[in-house]
Amino acid sequence: MSENKKIEKIVGVKGMNDLLPDDSALWELFENTVHSVLKSYGFQQVRTPIVEPTPLFARGLGEVTDIVEKEMYSFEDSMNGDKLTLRPEGTAGVVRAAIEHNLVYDGPKRLWYAGPMFRHEKPQRGRYRQFHQVGAEALGFSGPDIDAELIMLCQRLWDDLGLQNVCLELNSIGDANERNLHRAALISYFENHSDILDAEAKRRLHSNPLRILDTKNPAMQEMVNAAPKLLDYLGAESLAHFDGVQKILRHNSIPFTINPRLVRGMDYYNRTVFEWVTDELGSQGTVCAGGRYDTLFSTFGGKPTPACGFAMGIERLIELMKVAGDVHQPSLCDVYLVHQTDEGQMQSLVLGERLRDAGLDVVLHCATATGVGSFKSQMKKADASGCAYAVIIGEDEVANNNVSIKSMRSDIAENNQISVPFDAAVDYLVDQIAGTGDDSSCCDDPNHIHINH
Ligand code: ATP
Ligand code: MG
Repeated sequence: MSENKKIEKIVGVKGMNDLLPDDSALWELFENTVHSVLKSYGFQQVRTPIVEPTPLFARGLGEVTDIVEKEMYSFEDSMNGDKLTLRPEGTAGVVRAAIEHNLVYDGPKRLWYAGPMFRHEKPQRGRYRQFHQVGAEALGFSGPDIDAELIMLCQRLWDDLGLQNVCLELNSIGDANERNLHRAALISYFENHSDILDAEAKRRLHSNPLRILDTKNPAMQEMVNAAPKLLDYLGAESLAHFDGVQKILRHNSIPFTINPRLVRGMDYYNRTVFEWVTDELGSQGTVCAGGRYDTLFSTFGGKPTPACGFAMGIERLIELMKVAGDVHQPSLCDVYLVHQTDEGQMQSLVLGERLRDAGLDVVLHCATATGVGSFKSQMKKADASGCAYAVIIGEDEVANNNVSIKSMRSDIAENNQISVPFDAAVDYLVDQIAGTGDDSSCCDDPNHIHINH
């Protein structure tokens, strides 16, 4: 057909990103590190569906919250009319699952999850419509020790990732009755300053006055700064809990700032709330946020169960890792197999499997529409792969039952090519690669990536 009609390309949904190979190694490094830190504190993974019944979030997070009011992807299942929502956060689903499967019947549980979350926000740096969180939820624990442990876990993660500029802000928002007292004081204070309130604040004055403290409107800052502080309304038990958290953090040399203005965007929080913030990411500087939520189980009709957790934004942390370190692309493989003729290709396939059996990462040159290409073009691909060695099996090698091995990296001493009997090639390469002290190659390092600080 000579007709070359232009077919319109379909592009992805705005604010929802593809993770491409250039970044995936960094994501894997982050994920492996956070998984091993979580495991080192005894946290177990749970996976809940991406879709939940809409009332779960409306009831759990609160009707008058940014998320429920304007950020949720909610829809009706056209098959049966069910009202569903793409999860905007992870805690509600984990608590739903814990109640449904009676997870805390035999004692408290430390759980973690990771995956995509969905919020209809204005896309910008560090703010997307599909983004990813990893979160921890400690269910059934009531003391300040677990709050502090969660915070220390985060600190360990920043240390392991080499992130230095992440600071802890801490607050206590007390219990419901303490918040009610404060709320009454706040409403009358705001009423006395109604001339300064903007439209959103006026709308929230009686429904959610606490959120007015979170305003970004510069004209309201001074008035909001002088508003009654919740900390002054905390009773003895809440204060003791808050002191307990601080004492453990100090004892473990975790620096923090008490931010009396820190309130969280979800209604389910009580007592301890915290955020980890950095000034290296522009205005989207909060990389992790969490707190205690002792009443969420009851809100969902479960047995009252105290709990505490956090969620971190993976995109923002990946961005911070890029800012903090000079990130090297890891090599694709240890060995790249170059070949010619059908027999050479067959032998390469066999050798590739044997090398993988020995723990090496191997890329076999495969044909495209134009065939396997010349030696020269295959060697270019080998070079671009970042491999330590290219193994060549051409007509001569097949005839002599050997392989040619060429070291590809300038930091490997003998940068020449040698012949090795086919059956000795695996041992030779394993020795060479293990002996170079090259930790980007294979075997023990699951991460295959370096960040130099
Ligand atoms: P923000 O104030 O930035 O809107 P939030 O209070 O709505 O954050 P949480 O619901 O506490 O955020 O989520 C925990 C973390 O998830 C945030 O600290 C952030 O790192 C990340 N996060 C939240 N929303 C987004 C988003 N739309 N895109 C990317 N990351 C996000
Ligand atoms: Mg938000």
